[in-house]
Order: sequence, then structure tokens, then C-alpha cells
Amino acid sequence: MKRVFSGIQPTGEIHIGNYLGAIRNWVKIGEQIGKEAIFCIVDYHAITIPHEAKQLPQLTFDAALANMAAGLDPNKITLFAQSHVREHVELGWVFTTQTPLGDLERMTQFKDKSEQHSILAGLLMYPVLQAADILLYKADTVPVGEDQIQHIELTREIARRFNYRFASESQPIFPEPKASIDKNAARVLGLDGAGKMSKSKGNTIGVLEPQETIWQNIRVAPTDPARVRRTDPGNPDVCVMFAYHKLFSSLENIEMVNTECRRAGIGCVDCKKLLMQGIWQELEPIQAKAAYLQDHPNEVTDALVSGADYCRGIAQDTMLEVREAIGLLPLESRRPS
Ligand code: SF4
Repeated sequence: MKRVFSGIQPTGEIHIGNYLGAIRNWVKIGEQIGKEAIFCIVDYHAITIPHEAKQLPQLTFDAALANMAAGLDPNKITLFAQSHVREHVELGWVFTTQTPLGDLERMTQFKDKSEQHSILAGLLMYPVLQAADILLYKADTVPVGEDQIQHIELTREIARRFNYRFASESQPIFPEPKASIDKNAARVLGLDGAGKMSKSKGNTIGVLEPQETIWQNIRVAPTDPARVRRTDPGNPDVCVMFAYHKLFSSLENIEMVNTECRRAGIGCVDCKKLLMQGIWQELEPIQAKAAYLQDHPNEVTDALVSGADYCRGIAQDTMLEVREAIGLLPLESRRPS
């Protein structure tokens, strides 16, 4: 792993699925490769579906703040907003001119999203801009979830095609990045227990949500449906609360719940209160950091400015190579030789 790139949607708040499934892994990557761990808040991507222009700057800022509070330390890693490095769009355009329409229409995410939103050309081109995001920095590794593998395959294809057309075999311009799936990443179930935790399903626990709201949601969350009365023995294996215990509670408490639930030795309310303690132990320091950053917003904006400065340098070098390779007239040339 020499350089890692990952995009963060500016959806404001993050939930524990994002935190346990991605951010904790990013923090570990940052400890290994420092500044070369590049995390980008993808505001250009956010406008490929209808959005509120007045809200987007705040959402972008909030995404930076939330990720910093959850552990991304801009003194170690690189964090920036995509629109602050305009070369993303330029390389995106270059790749657009080289990508067959059929490759984009095949993308599963495009098919899904186009069922929910009116089809803007930008939605179709989303994976091309994503390829530009990654290849602009010649990243060799992209940490992703399973649903993004198809996009990384397309990125590899775009790099291959570009190298074949515009570079020599011995000196390719772009490396072919590999997708990295964190095997230890938790797949966090939603509060309803019906599937993955997801904002669109409304089944999340927000990392920055007030303690009281989290408790209200946990208090009414479903448990083992077969456990109707307090005296009924339960099965923790079918209960989402037990899945959360495994993520947040001590080994001792996990074993206790596993045993006592099966013989009705613990009631669901007490089990949930115990779970709440574990969750709050994890989230309290994150919320304290978020409150500090709310009071010191310059720390967030300064991080984004220096992140963008660092990335712009790399991006401009890449674009010099790309412009020359595809035959654009250099700005300083009056007359092509
Ligand atoms: S005791 Fe805990 S694990 Fe067992 S059914 Fe109730 S909430 Fe679920």
C-alpha cells in the first residue's frame, strides 16, 4: 500500500455502520501510510442527484467534522473537499471522452439510482468521475464495500485503456488500483434487524446522535420475536441487540447475555440498558471531539485547506502528463512544433 484513496459522501452525519465498517479501517491505514492515505469529501458526486444548493456547503463541512471526530486526524492523513481540487473534473472529462456508453449503462448502481431519481447525465458519468478521483492520485489501493467493486473494475479498465492509447507499455501513466475489502470490517445491521444499516432505510444509530435519542430508538427496537413475555427464554442469535452487544460490549457481558437470554435470566429492557452502556462508552469521546470541533470550526476548515493544497500539487503533476499524452497544446506554447 503506497497511496490509498477513498471518497466520503457529504451526507452530514455518520452512523455506526459507517464508523465500524469504514472509518476505523481508514484510521488504521492512516497509521501505516500517513499523508498518503487520502480521504476526499465528494461534493461533485453529491450533485449528480437533486440536491439543496444552500445545504451542500454545510453538509460538506459536517462530513469533515464528523469524520475528524470519529478518528481521522488531518495531522496524519489527508482530508479535503473534491471541489477544492478542480483537476478532478478535468480528468473526469478526459476519461468521459474515452469511455464507451455501454460500460456506464451496465453499472448496477446507475440502474438502481436511476430508478429513484431522474436521470441526469452526471449520474451516468458518476463512475468516470470516480475513476478520475482515484487515478488523479495514482492510488494503488481503494478501500471499498462490496457494492463498489464494479466501479473499481471500471476504473482499472479506464486506466488500462488510457495507457494503451496514450502511453507506452513500459511507462504507463496510470497504475491499475486494486479494491481492498477490509475482512475485519463489521457488517452492521440496522435497528430493525432487517438488513444493513443505511440512512435511506431510516434504521441507523447516528454517531453524533444525542444519548437520549439513541436510547429511545434502542428501547423500541425489535428483539427475538418469539420472546413475548419476560419469562420466555430467548434466542440471542436472532436478535439484533445481541449483534450490537458483540460490537460494543465487553466479552464478559456478551457471554452473560448469551447465557442468560437463553434461560430467561435477563429481560430485554435490562439487556438493552447494558448495551446502551457499551455504545455510549464508544460514542462519548467521539461526541466530545465533535463538540470541540463545533467550537473550533477553523480546525476543520484549515484541515480542508491544507489537504486540498497537498492534493492539488499531486493532481497538477498528473494533469501535466495527461494533457501532453492526449495532445493538448501547452499553455506556454505559442506555436506547436
Ligand atoms: S435478552 Fe437481549 S439478546 Fe435476548 S432477546 Fe432480549 S434483547 Fe435480545
